Amino acid sequence: MEAASKKFPILFQTLNTFAASEVDGVRGVIRITSKNPGPTVGISICTHGNEPSGLAVAHYLLGEYDLRTRLQKGTVYLVLNNLEAVMNYFVGAEAGSKEKYRYIDFNMNRLPSDIHKSDEYEVRRARELLPIWERFDIGLDIHSTRQESEPMIINGSELFHHSLVKGFPIANVISDIVAVQVGKPAIAFYGHGNHTQTLGIETGGHENAGSFERAKTCTVALLESVGLILNGGINTSHVYNEYKVFSSVIFPDQSYLCARYFPNYEFVRAGEVLARGDGADIVAPQDCHVLFAPKETEVPTWNSTAEEALFLAYPVREFRV
Ligand SMILES: [Zn+2]
Repeated sequence: MEAASKKFPILFQTLNTFAASEVDGVRGVIRITSKNPGPTVGISICTHGNEPSGLAVAHYLLGEYDLRTRLQKGTVYLVLNNLEAVMNYFVGAEAGSKEKYRYIDFNMNRLPSDIHKSDEYEVRRARELLPIWERFDIGLDIHSTRQESEPMIINGSELFHHSLVKGFPIANVISDIVAVQVGKPAIAFYGHGNHTQTLGIETGGHENAGSFERAKTCTVALLESVGLILNGGINTSHVYNEYKVFSSVIFPDQSYLCARYFPNYEFVRAGEVLARGDGADIVAPQDCHVLFAPKETEVPTWNSTAEEALFLAYPVREFRV
């Protein structure tokens, strides 16, 4: 496997810019502040180390887009969440280290509720980042998917803040996944109470140039929507497909594999076998869509039995805002 530092040399430079940047003693954070008061927007990237879309966003905002000059009000934090894993992804291409690309000790989207105890790398890093994360009024966490698939908005709040996503080139919204999943995603720690608006995006396949472009468009659209930069004329009406997550499948042991390949959003009928192993078959409890299933029949190395193999969502609902 070619090292990402060779594949994406410009993004490797951006990573090194982050690694050399500190805000209030916290490494991997870049702050851009306007003279005019306004909301604090946190753009977090690389919560999973093998998802370079967010670095493409940072490269664009700090360079060509020149956010420092364009910022009209408020503050933008660019936060590289999983600094060590992304370093591994860029420079550690040797065999056997694959699982350390995505995270070092702990999936940063499956954090314990109490991050003040454990000394595992991601939990320590979350603890270090918490004083920064807590400043966000609005938080956007940028991800990508192992499957090439249609991009998605992950609604991190109880309400879907559709005003924030005007202009995102993404029509699929995933709701309630935060409530269903094991542990807490990083965005669950963002902000300072119920008024904080958080969302995630899955921009498409990890190393797809289209994912990089989509991530940039979404970020600029968000900054426009909240008034931090001048509005370039975003579309105000949009049709969304909402996939409300109601359950997940966790394999009981390592003998289990998916019964077939389930692309993202795949519709399955009640009773269809989803996975087989030494014990009972795992079947769809009702008509539903399958999300985030592993590629083919493999359980990825990072997908232990402590983590969901896939999620299930109610039949899609269309709505317009
Ligand atoms: Zn991710």
